[in-house]
Amino acid sequence: MNILAVFPHPDDEIGCAATLAHHAALGDTVTLVWTTYGELASHFAGKPHAEVRTVREGHARHVAGLIGAGVRFFDFGDTRVSSSREQNAALACLYAELRPDAIITWDETSPGGSSHPDHRATARSAFDAITLARLPGILQEFGRPELEAHRKPVRFYQYGHYSPPQPGWPLVHIAVSEAAVNLGAEVLEFYAQFYGWKTGRENYIRDKKESGERAGVEYADKYFLRRGYHPALERLV
Ligand SMILES: [Zn+2]
Repeated sequence: MNILAVFPHPDDEIGCAATLAHHAALGDTVTLVWTTYGELASHFAGKPHAEVRTVREGHARHVAGLIGAGVRFFDFGDTRVSSSREQNAALACLYAELRPDAIITWDETSPGGSSHPDHRATARSAFDAITLARLPGILQEFGRPELEAHRKPVRFYQYGHYSPPQPGWPLVHIAVSEAAVNLGAEVLEFYAQFYGWKTGRENYIRDKKESGERAGVEYADKYFLRRGYHPALERLV
């Protein structure tokens, strides 16, 4: 399986780090894709963009190393992600190259997901690129004619939450191992230490445990499954 996680800023991936680590440990190919280098983050106010970019790219690469994921960067520009045809096509070419079976990105409804325009735009772009990747004409037009259109079903997951407002898509839980949860917590702690966040390891692990309890497993991450190709269950229970 090929898994892509598509986010605008290094640190947006914290919410799915356990899922990604879990899949990487299972032998799946996992790639973290960032659409910007997050050069406008307020933490770095006054610092030259080139310097911020280097720091944040370093964070991204460090986290990918912890998870066991590959990395890809686009430079759409912090606060400039617009889900334009060009940006969507750039992602579509990447999809045609990496051929994802599943994609994870921001939700567009929770406070965290909707608070930054890049979060909403990257989620839109990540979704629309699935359709564009199916079109040979797009790959031709945007300079990758050698790639085969990516036409197989892609499951599209967005960060999920229990409380309203709900987008109306099914909330699904992905069971993750304890080792993957610990790796996810390590990712969180890495960023928390750098940015001076208070939320730490205990809350992170409690959240995964609570999600797991609701789903009947030890630990879980939760997502809205926006584009399903829902697999048939073998039996009701
Ligand atoms: Zn962000």
